[in-house]
Amino acid sequence: MSQQPLEPDYHFLEQLESAGPFEAAACFQCRKCTNGCPVTFAMDLYPDEVIRMTILGQRETVLGCETIWVCAACETCTTRCPNDVKIAELMDCLKEMAVQEGVPSHQPQILRLHETFLNNIEKWGRLYETTLLPAYWLRSGELRQKWKTGIWRYEINVGLQMLAKRRFPLFPKPVKAKREIRKILAKRRKK
Ligand code: SF4
Ligand code: SF4
Repeated sequence: MSQQPLEPDYHFLEQLESAGPFEAAACFQCRKCTNGCPVTFAMDLYPDEVIRMTILGQRETVLGCETIWVCAACETCTTRCPNDVKIAELMDCLKEMAVQEGVPSHQPQILRLHETFLNNIEKWGRLYETTLLPAYWLRSGELRQKWKTGIWRYEINVGLQMLAKRRFPLFPKPVKAKREIRKILAKRRKK
């Protein structure tokens, strides 16, 4: 079977870099990012492959891959990269682009957690952990499942213990630039 030569399309990279810069073009495929990533076992493309395919304009493959949703944003890759490619930030940008373009996620629960997380920050100006999980349970439908299995009792108990030990704040902490943060996050709805 004859193989078609790949036609690189650099518009995809230009579009992404305009939201960056992420310096993806500086990648020389050393794979230090992938070798340090703690969640490659759950990825369908390795981080260095995401970078390479992004450079070559493989838009559908990159926006539809599981890797961008599995990425835990731990920044290990960004720290290890000898060329200062902002890999973790690029993964976030790809997630947002996939949402904006309506690309279905193979990881719908992670997508729901992602949206709940951003809504939480938009509302409070910074993460207010105490309401994050309950909001996620409601959004994802996990509350019903937890109710049925009775596991909610255990998890509420753990939550109360964490509140007692001040691992969670009882009230949200005030943030000075709340209005500006809201404006930034509200933009993602208008795109
Ligand atoms: S560590 Fe940097 S240069 Fe090396 S493969 Fe990853 S992105 Fe490319
Ligand atoms: S930020 Fe994502 S891709 Fe980079 S090392 Fe962490 S989990 Fe892996």
